[in-house]
Amino acid sequence: MTLYLKDATFIHWESFDISQTNLAVEPGLQGGIRRLEKIPQEDGLTARDRIIDCRGKLVTKSFGCGHHHIYSTLARGMPAPRKIPTDFTEVLQYIWWHIDKRLDLEMIEASALASALYCAKNGVTFVIDHHASPFAITDSLPTIANAFDRVGIAHMLCYEISDRDGEGPREEGLAETDSFLAAGHQGHVGLHASFTVGDELLSKAVELARKHDTGLHVHVAEDRADQEDALAKYGKRVVERFHDAGALELTKSILGHCIHLSDREKQLLADSGVWVVQNVESNQNNNVGLAGYADLGARMMLGTDGMHCDMLRSAKAAFLVGQATEGIGFDGIYGRFRNVHRYIQKFGSQGDGDNNLVVLDYDAPTDLTQENFLGHFIYGIDARHVESVISQGRPIVANRQVLSVDEKEVLAHARAMGRKLWEKM
Ligand SMILES: [Zn+2]
Repeated sequence: MTLYLKDATFIHWESFDISQTNLAVEPGLQGGIRRLEKIPQEDGLTARDRIIDCRGKLVTKSFGCGHHHIYSTLARGMPAPRKIPTDFTEVLQYIWWHIDKRLDLEMIEASALASALYCAKNGVTFVIDHHASPFAITDSLPTIANAFDRVGIAHMLCYEISDRDGEGPREEGLAETDSFLAAGHQGHVGLHASFTVGDELLSKAVELARKHDTGLHVHVAEDRADQEDALAKYGKRVVERFHDAGALELTKSILGHCIHLSDREKQLLADSGVWVVQNVESNQNNNVGLAGYADLGARMMLGTDGMHCDMLRSAKAAFLVGQATEGIGFDGIYGRFRNVHRYIQKFGSQGDGDNNLVVLDYDAPTDLTQENFLGHFIYGIDARHVESVISQGRPIVANRQVLSVDEKEVLAHARAMGRKLWEKM
């Protein structure tokens, strides 16, 4: 099967070079794109070939999310917690840990399907997820992987292992991670955060990541409480603790948030090869503070932290917050928005090749050029412009309709699972 994009206005995602062209999009993990003078005539097409008319539409590389939580999907609109949280630790205790302990595999599958569906509709074709379900750990990662595959979203998954629920869930988390990675899936060794991870677990996690040639995926200094805990228990700050445990030598590691860091911690991160993911909307929502990241070097990505599945929205939020925290420019935010592709490529991960594309029906009120593309990116282009989405050469959204799964069915099942979850709360 070859997919043809006819009369596209193609924007190169790195150079912003704009060209009028036809494209042939090859399927599969290794598939690429070719420019064509002309789309083959009907007698030159096979029955499975497909043409999307892109006249007047922009075509560019689709998007990726550097930090997501599918487990939060069924939280939308849920009943108020028993106690209104007054700080971040209570947000975890009364909201997220209250939910994730009640998830079963059926709810996890429904969460992953609905989340993948939203990703598809927002032009996000690659997701790095961080999952928690302390009483349904075994098989949770393959369940999520299958759901993402059904929708057509590539992924790197992990289970956020911790000591918060004792030895049983901790060992089960390690075993689930080991078997998932041993089966050849892309992923990380997930840890919740320093304050829920003892030294024994930290060292086992680093060892497991080395065994599978991957990195950790962990929340770091999201709230001051994480630093206070590390100083009280270990006499060092969170990043110093991870450094001493060898975690920063695992350059595939992804550290979420990194809000409350000392200058020495920032230096340790800048000198290491690890990556940091910024999630400003979640940080505002949890009132944990905001950070500028200019000192951390170039390995910065953007995520949603499970709040939604719209990376264009994350980029705009990071741009607005970044005005106050670090005076960031259009190019700085766009670089972070696109660094997820550089991360995937650097470590040889699959599923984010050139045959992952979005078709945008962008109703620009002014000319769009190579020079001013970033102005349109920041102030204009958003999720409502995403008309078609191509994942690994396969159309998964066309005319804003998801093709790979039945949207009504996926959402009806998610709502049923939401009711089941809320009854248990
Ligand atoms: Zn997170």
